Amino acid sequence: MIPTGAARFAGVAGHPVAHSLSPVLMQHWIDAADLDALYVPFPVAPEDFDRVVAGLARAGCAGLNVTLPHKEAALELADTASASARAVGAANLLTFSASGIHADNTDIAGFLYALAPASIDYSKTRALVFGAGGAARALVYGLLTAGVTKLAICNRNLTRAEGLARDIAPDASLVPWEARDDALDGSTLIINATSLGLGGRDDLDLDWQRVASGSVAFDSVYTPLKTGFLAAAADRGLTAIDGLDMLIGQARPSFQAFFGRPVPDLPAIRHRLIHQLEAQ
Ligand code: NAP
Repeated sequence: MIPTGAARFAGVAGHPVAHSLSPVLMQHWIDAADLDALYVPFPVAPEDFDRVVAGLARAGCAGLNVTLPHKEAALELADTASASARAVGAANLLTFSASGIHADNTDIAGFLYALAPASIDYSKTRALVFGAGGAARALVYGLLTAGVTKLAICNRNLTRAEGLARDIAPDASLVPWEARDDALDGSTLIINATSLGLGGRDDLDLDWQRVASGSVAFDSVYTPLKTGFLAAAADRGLTAIDGLDMLIGQARPSFQAFFGRPVPDLPAIRHRLIHQLEAQ
């Protein structure tokens, strides 16, 4: 349907935002559900973020997805926030209502959505997370809520990993970057939450022979879809999951929050996004 003057609208704010797949994803679902709605990319510089959000909220926007570099600022400006957004220290979803601006973090749900097909028994999982930035914080929080009790975090900057552990996972063991291959022994879920591999550059190289068969590898990166990290995990015979399903999974609760209905069930959406990625 072509949007009318009464259309409900939402969007994504980022800096830059032109590479975002969210407009393609959301508009695809809007069209499939035949909603009088639209979803708009908003390029917003950091110094303008608060004013743009306040203006959009006043103009009747339903809410915003928030991407880099605004995720911390989004949490700070909100009137209320979910416990998960507060724990992670970042929000990727703002919803606007008469009672104010509410912040949430749906990256956590997106991550667990991506892992769901692997049918992981989290209570028996030994998880190893590489990274300690915003994505790692959401993933670590997701692992703990899913029931993981054996967790190791390995980051180049160990102080940052210590901060993550202090804030979210005090029982996690911390692994110095130089010992990353040693940490693979006994790990059954290996996660790349660093930006290594992004854009096909500087892959996270690991000695995959040390990982037991039957283990799962997840890469938060989805450009490219098949990073060196995932290719090597697949060569080892492991279940290898890319970051695209996390993107789809984080958008699902956002769509529900903006447009008041669940996402239409469209298995083809992944192909549509891959097509979009190839065109970029
Ligand atoms: P961030 O906060 O900037 O953190 C970057 C992380 O990468 C840090 O742990 C950093 O380590 C590490 N890193 C960067 N360059 C490195 C290098 N040369 N060697 C070793 N470690 C390096 O970024 P983020 O927001 O957490 O994002 C991380 C990744 O997750 C990105 O690729 C992003 O695209 C992806 N992501 C995916 C989704 C999705 O839906 N699939 C959602 C969010 C994020 P130091 O602390 O030592 O610098």
